[in-house]
Amino acid sequence: MNAPSHGETLDTLALARGTVDRVTEKRDDQDWLDAAWRDPRTRVFVVSDGRALVRIDDERAGLLLGSPAEAPDGIRLLLGQDPAGLVYFAVNAKLPPAPDGVQAASLREVGSLLGDRDAGLFTHAVALANWHDTHTHCPLDGTPTVPEPGGHSSRCPKDGTEHFPRTDPAVIMLVTDPDDRCLLARNAAWPGRRVSILAGFVDPGESAEQAVVREVAEETGIKVKNVRYVGSQPWPMPRSLMLGFRADAPAGQVISVDHDELAEAHWFSRDELLAAIKAREIALPPSVSIARHIIEAWFGGPLPPTTWPEPAPPGPAPPGR
Ligand SMILES: [Zn+2]
Repeated sequence: MNAPSHGETLDTLALARGTVDRVTEKRDDQDWLDAAWRDPRTRVFVVSDGRALVRIDDERAGLLLGSPAEAPDGIRLLLGQDPAGLVYFAVNAKLPPAPDGVQAASLREVGSLLGDRDAGLFTHAVALANWHDTHTHCPLDGTPTVPEPGGHSSRCPKDGTEHFPRTDPAVIMLVTDPDDRCLLARNAAWPGRRVSILAGFVDPGESAEQAVVREVAEETGIKVKNVRYVGSQPWPMPRSLMLGFRADAPAGQVISVDHDELAEAHWFSRDELLAAIKAREIALPPSVSIARHIIEAWFGGPLPPTTWPEPAPPGPAPPGR
């Protein structure tokens, strides 16, 4: 049995990495962007519907990067510049045919296999491309908008308003009872044996901590206290930011599952969780998710790998589990 962790912060999360400087001051500098695009050392990859071409070798993955001359037409997304001066772009366009040994993959599939640089580039590119794909018109007058040079905003040519990428905050929380058992639930939309911690979107005009208390009560009837933040990672599928929390459930409460959202919810001690995984009674989220890291931080160390053999559930809600 592993010793319980007393740390409240998470180790490096798969999609919360990156090594390039985002050079935010260059996003509107057309001369600098043109010069970077003319430089054959500049590295470019194509992103399309959340996927990019990657090479996977021996549980390590890398983005297929090319020169600007090789890139198709599409919205250019300035991602940043590395310490050696190389500039990185993504182009939001149809994926080109994959060369031998290369395949199209999503962040869910390869996020934890990529190195720090490529994990950051891919996450950044998917977040921007997903926004462009779904925000094509001015919300004020319906005119088609025009992307600004670096791809980090768009402008309405009719009224001149500038529009920025949207991120939806969502909370994800591990609740423990006075015996330090952890609350795990199976979403009604999930097939098979998958369980995870609770999660939900932050409501308009609500704090993240308020959202934790509300979501836990709505989904399980449990009232929590002592809500504390443990870390975050972007989950741009299509546009969430997962805010991780721990919370305490005072004694004397009974789980009452909201069957619109959940199929079931149970308390697990560390021994019970390990036994259920080994018996293949449950499957935990993959290592690309913040959920797994929060569960392992509570458990006190890595848990046996479990696979979620079914494809990930479609749609944005509930996110990041
Ligand atoms: Zn407009």
